Amino acid sequence: MTKFTDLNLNAKVLKAIDEAGYESPTPIQAGAIPPALEGRDVLGIAQTGTGKTASFTLPMLSLLARGRARARMPRSLVLCPTRELAAQVAENFDTYSKHLKLTKALLIGGVSFKEQDKLIDKGVDVLIATPGRLLDHFERGKLILSDVKVMVVDEADRMLDMGFIPDIERIFGLTPFTRQTLFFSATMAPEIERITNTFLSNPERIEVARQATTSENIEQGVVMFKGSRKDREASEKRKLLRLLIDAEGEKCTNAIIFCNRKMDVDIVAKSLKKYGYDAAPIHGDLDQSQRTRTLEGFRGGELRFLVASDVAARGLDVPSVSHVFNFDVPSHAEDYVHRIGRTGRAGRDGKAIMICQPRDEKNFEDVERLVQKEIPRIENPLGKAKPAEETSDAPAKSDDKPKRTRSRSRKADKPVEAPAEGKQPQAEKAEAKVDAKTDDKAQPEKAEAAQDERKSGRGNKDEKKSRGGRGRGDKRGGNDNRVVGLGDHTPDFIGLSFRERI
Ligand code: AMP
Repeated sequence: MTKFTDLNLNAKVLKAIDEAGYESPTPIQAGAIPPALEGRDVLGIAQTGTGKTASFTLPMLSLLARGRARARMPRSLVLCPTRELAAQVAENFDTYSKHLKLTKALLIGGVSFKEQDKLIDKGVDVLIATPGRLLDHFERGKLILSDVKVMVVDEADRMLDMGFIPDIERIFGLTPFTRQTLFFSATMAPEIERITNTFLSNPERIEVARQATTSENIEQGVVMFKGSRKDREASEKRKLLRLLIDAEGEKCTNAIIFCNRKMDVDIVAKSLKKYGYDAAPIHGDLDQSQRTRTLEGFRGGELRFLVASDVAARGLDVPSVSHVFNFDVPSHAEDYVHRIGRTGRAGRDGKAIMICQPRDEKNFEDVERLVQKEIPRIENPLGKAKPAEETSDAPAKSDDKPKRTRSRSRKADKPVEAPAEGKQPQAEKAEAKVDAKTDDKAQPEKAEAAQDERKSGRGNKDEKKSRGGRGRGDKRGGNDNRVVGLGDHTPDFIGLSFRERI
């Protein structure tokens, strides 16, 4: 087996690796480090969790150990899709460069330009940046990229998803043609292939096994969920999440809850908080200081539930996460593997529970196909989806009250959830407010719900009442001929039969 000492790395870097406790290089490190140290371009097809960050950081540090940076002219550049990832890469640099005298700057949004300018002015060996922020600095004339000797593009497929490819191409064009490029992507989409063909020169291609298999020590489960009614689905889904969390009890020391949309990240975090759960959101639209604070809180164990989007949580390295809840089935099957890989790290046990709605079924099939196994079904703690009338705990209508079955009262519309034990009913009101807000944004869904309702449940019930029960036909001398077309408001005389007077 390859050892780090076989890899020709700088002695001070080796010392830091030893202190980090790494015993041997991972496959991507064993494959990428030697060609990178020879100055060759590298195309690494590897995902997060494979040790890929060290596979470019270690050779870069060894190459940069000699030489000095000039003002405003960084000697190397690492591009990352998100601020969190950039910050994580910066942490890696700190760990591995602790015995070297190298300088670095982190250029990410949400941090003042002034401080970043100061660092760049002094001259940095390593510049770690998100593409947008880097170009902002460049356009302000504060940055010169003509001395970049090594350029790293990390998580290129995520850059593609986020629409950063034009920025990346532009940055490639601003760096010298002679630079060395280390390029990493989890997948090789045609657009990524095109970029590598254009900007990499005879790269050494290293592909580590696609992480299609999920770790054995992660227990997986899925709950099939269908709301009792379209307009209650969202709040019932959040209730289901709370029940699933509660069912895990103390085993759930902390968890990441993934949502597909940023808007849901906010709503779910807010809802959990209202019900007394220690939760906070993290996604790209939050300001940087808040994101950092949240992440640190979660890492440090002060925050129990991190509600996250894929982008924000991508590549996050928190060693002990007991649970992952997929509030939504991810739309890219590979994200499932990434998401649940946040738990069960470093040989620990982990549990991953997902909620699947009928509309997610296709994505769910993709997930099962990718992981090549059937994900065990968990019984829905909310019980089977019941007809709308039964799940609502709005006051039951009594038959002797005037029936206004066609016009729904606002009260019955309000999503009502039984609060979890010991949780304040106040939360319900807030929940309803949240739903009201989101419903506004989801007009088509609302209209669809109304349409569904007209077609199904209530309509049928009303029809039944008019047919049987009070039984107009019965009352009218055994005449079973129903009058169709006038609803409940048929004047009685219309049902009478007329006999000709003689
Ligand atoms: P990455 O794929 O870069 O996100 O790395 C995932 C995790 O693996 C990080 O926590 C690293 O500290 C850790 N790691 C990287 N290289 C090694 C190694 N050779 N041995 C053990 N752990 C490693």
